[in-house]
Amino acid sequence: MKVDYSKYTDGLVPAIVQDFKTHKVLMLGFMNEEAVKKTMSEGKVTFYSRSKKRLWTKGEESGNHLLVKEIMSDCDNDTLLIKAQPLGPTCHTGADTCWSERNHQEDFLYYLEDIIELRKKSSDEKSYVKQLFGKGINKMAQKVGEEAVELVIEAKDSNDDLFLNEAADLLFHYLILLNAKGHNLESVVNILRQRHSK
Ligand code: AMP
Ligand code: ZN
Ligand code: ZN
Ligand code: ZN
Repeated sequence: MKVDYSKYTDGLVPAIVQDFKTHKVLMLGFMNEEAVKKTMSEGKVTFYSRSKKRLWTKGEESGNHLLVKEIMSDCDNDTLLIKAQPLGPTCHTGADTCWSERNHQEDFLYYLEDIIELRKKSSDEKSYVKQLFGKGINKMAQKVGEEAVELVIEAKDSNDDLFLNEAADLLFHYLILLNAKGHNLESVVNILRQRHSK
């Protein structure tokens, strides 16, 4: 198979992954020559991750690998199409594809996690989230404690509006703390799922 890496200044070729049975488009990633070689030799889709700045085998943490059935380049060899068998949901939101019904917009909590990650990395010093990350893990954990106490206090009252707003505050700071500890909602949901299946 011919691949023209020289078309792109960074040598990264777009690779579309398609479900070999349903023909659904699962995700889009980028591959350098090394990623293409590894994908072909090991039979599992491996991208070059621009955010991780290293080879990334899809499913390396989640186990949701994409098993290669067929790999082909297009008419002028500058994009790849990979037909694959997904071993689980392809999107990190838990959706089958990165364009599913259950996407970042609809599943607002996962979307919010992405926003928190963006704010953390931004240089916007006015961002509340950014400031909170600057204060360190103890401060973030303390905020969760404070919001929990506020929620407990509002639970004793009968004002729905105040109660719901404190519940939202708690959830928001809980997501921030999860991120700060290097985790996410998906990990927590997975634990709940496992407990449920017992
Ligand atoms: P995985 O490769 O499935 O173990 O996921 C590891 C990490 O890669 C996730 O936490 C996400 O940050 C990222 N990731 C996984 N799947 C996707 C995807 N379809 N699109 C973009 N990023 C993803
Ligand atoms: Zn082309
Ligand atoms: Zn996705
Ligand atoms: Zn509050």
